[in-house]
Amino acid sequence: MYVELHPANPEWAAVTIRDMAAFGIEHRSELDSASRDARFPRDLYVEMGRRGWVGPMTPIADGGSGGGVAEYCLVEEEVGRHRLISPQISIQGQCWLLAWGSPEQRQRYLPGIATGECIFSESISEPGVGSSLKLMRATATRDADGWVINGHKCHVNLGHQCDVTLVYAMTDAGLTAFLVDRTTHGLSTRQTDPIGLRMIPTADVMFDNVRVPDTALLGEPGMGMQTFLSTFNLSRLGNASELIGWGRRALAEAIAYAAERRVGDGMVTDFQGIQWTVANLYAELYAASLVRDHAATLSDQGTEHSLETTLAKMLAVNAAEHTINEVFALVGAHGLYREQDFGDMLQDIKVLRVAGGSLEVLRNYIARRILRHPEALGL
Ligand SMILES: Cc1cc2nc3c(=O)[nH]c(=O)nc-3n(C[C@H](O)[C@H](O)[C@H](O)COP(=O)(O)OP(=O)(O)OC[C@H]3O[C@@H](n4cnc5c(N)ncnc54)[C@H](O)[C@@H]3O)c2cc1C
Repeated sequence: MYVELHPANPEWAAVTIRDMAAFGIEHRSELDSASRDARFPRDLYVEMGRRGWVGPMTPIADGGSGGGVAEYCLVEEEVGRHRLISPQISIQGQCWLLAWGSPEQRQRYLPGIATGECIFSESISEPGVGSSLKLMRATATRDADGWVINGHKCHVNLGHQCDVTLVYAMTDAGLTAFLVDRTTHGLSTRQTDPIGLRMIPTADVMFDNVRVPDTALLGEPGMGMQTFLSTFNLSRLGNASELIGWGRRALAEAIAYAAERRVGDGMVTDFQGIQWTVANLYAELYAASLVRDHAATLSDQGTEHSLETTLAKMLAVNAAEHTINEVFALVGAHGLYREQDFGDMLQDIKVLRVAGGSLEVLRNYIARRILRHPEALGL
């Protein structure tokens, strides 16, 4: 909704909003069929990259569009609004490389990832490790030639299609991150079948004595927690933006239908009960947008914004989930068929309710911050 979002380049933002809408219309049937089949539409993704939507924050010299967090949020929201292919994990990868990558790693991976030519994934979760990284069992052991990685990762978006994955493993020094090419000997993948975000399907990624050199380290050994946390706020803002985009789409589509749907002597939107639903949902999405915009502005200013970012994702999950649930009141049976995307959005939302910081984990963080210093937060 961009109530208070301030992209540094408003002209780029306006063109991007217009072009992403047109892209969604032009490629609707290919996008829908990819989503139905849980298939990554790589050609369309490369096309999105060519237009600057996969690398909104990466410097132009490195293949990106040179924007900031506001531009990133805008792209993610329009991805949601038009149900395009989310580049969020790739953008996280670009930020990791920009913050922690060696000059060689940046040169090797960054331009490809920023333009959508090189597919990036993050291999963090394991069958026994979700919210708690302390339980991680994947290991990386140092020997004379480099590192040997063993372990089993799961839920990895684009793990099966990626060119490079960032894997987290335990070393003697603690949690450590490595950039590993998918074709490396000993690395195997198996696509899995998620209910939502099906255009970037998940995979199991197995590391069986995968050997990598020192140059694969992202940061230093033992710095995994720092690298991991360094993109936390960013990924939550991207999630919040995509959720707001889905909410906008659901409400806009439902209103368009209900305003034309005759029931009794009038249209569905003539009922006061329906109008109140529309008002409530719009207000919730608007409020989530404002908090997201505020967090993005703080981030672009370099001001601490973990609480605002976490609030933004929590409010966006609640607003989007409530919106998708309630728009069925406007669309009736029309919304209950596969040709419409209300059902798909319902399922997409469940993914972002869990992945990238589940609603419970977000609430825990917010509660901790409030209870530690209530007076500092205006209570
Ligand atoms: C479609 C999809 C895509 C994903 N993509 C990736 C990816 O690309 N790379 C990757 O590494 N991972 C990915 N994930 C994994 C995701 O990050 C994890 O699902 C997430 O971290 C939560 O872990 P879990 O599902 O194992 O839940 P668990 O940690 O097992 O928790 C189970 C439930 O308990 C709740 N819970 C946990 N702790 C608390 C607490 N302290 N208080 C209250 N409730 C709590 C959780 O919110 C959750 O609902 C993806 C997941 C999905 C479903």
